[in-house]
Amino acid sequence: MALNEITITQAIIERYTRKLLACTEVDAAIVGAGPAGLVAACYLAKAGKKVAVFERKLSIGGGMWGGGMMFNEIVVQKEGKDILDGFGVRTQLYKRGYYTADAIEAVSTICSVAVKAGARIFNCISVEDVMIREGRVIGLVINWSPVEMAGLHVDPLTITAKYVIDSTGHNTEVLRVIERKADVKLNTPSGGIMGERSMWAEKAERLTLDNTKEICPGVYVAGMSANAAFGGPRMGPIFGGMLLSGQKAAEAIIAAALVPAATTWKKKKK
Ligand SMILES: Cc1cc2nc3c(=O)[nH]c(=O)nc-3n(C[C@H](O)[C@H](O)[C@H](O)COP(=O)(O)OP(=O)(O)OC[C@H]3O[C@@H](n4cnc5c(N)ncnc54)[C@H](O)[C@@H]3O)c2cc1C
Repeated sequence: MALNEITITQAIIERYTRKLLACTEVDAAIVGAGPAGLVAACYLAKAGKKVAVFERKLSIGGGMWGGGMMFNEIVVQKEGKDILDGFGVRTQLYKRGYYTADAIEAVSTICSVAVKAGARIFNCISVEDVMIREGRVIGLVINWSPVEMAGLHVDPLTITAKYVIDSTGHNTEVLRVIERKADVKLNTPSGGIMGERSMWAEKAERLTLDNTKEICPGVYVAGMSANAAFGGPRMGPIFGGMLLSGQKAAEAIIAAALVPAATTWKKKKK
């Protein structure tokens, strides 16, 4: 059969447009496809929620591809291993309480589980702002990352979300916009972003989980973003806290039970 370039072009445009249109109103919008965001997407999608993940970069996976100093192995504790087991990521015992996994297998498998569970991941899209109504974040303002990178004068588009997860890592990008532009007090001791502290693995792993919570109406923080928001220390290349944090954020949103069933994904007829 002869291939036609125009058919290929039309297929890409039509299918992508359909995917993006389906995500203009979602139950949960996740900003950042690092380990915390991807794990949250898995659990939310598996629970039947309509989930869109926006990732600035071409690649998903955030800082997990590089393990520690580009040695692409990750270390997790028992609780983190349990999550990886659930996704089918193979781990090996290193020493009592320490497990390793191949970073490439971890990222690619978690991503695959999320997408197959129904989460839609949009790479090359940056979240540059939020929509706030009556003190609650109700949506995101998105644009192509290359527009942002080139500093082009192009207006963004918007999507609405019942819940937003800021899993943007160290920079807490969603929270920074909220802090800068809105009269919304964050649920931190200072009422604002407290900033990340120096490395302390054990404390940081615990605090990452403690700090995974709703930080202002409609917005949860997960992963390194949770640490930076609440002034927790960084933890070095151990990833259990990131995985557990993504799981906790998803479970908190599911438990909030404010997502009407009518907005869950409709399964495609076979
Ligand atoms: C400078 C630096 C220091 C680090 N130090 C540590 C450390 O001390 N401890 C540690 O565990 N890890 C560290 N890491 C690695 C890494 O950040 C974490 O281990 C881990 O990957 C964090 O997971 P996460 O899911 O919270 O965020 P990340 O893996 O960082 O993923 C966040 C994702 O969000 C995306 N993103 C950010 N803003 C936006 C936006 N506005 N719109 C769309 N997408 C966006 C990013 O492109 C990225 O892919 C460091 C990374 C860097 C770059």
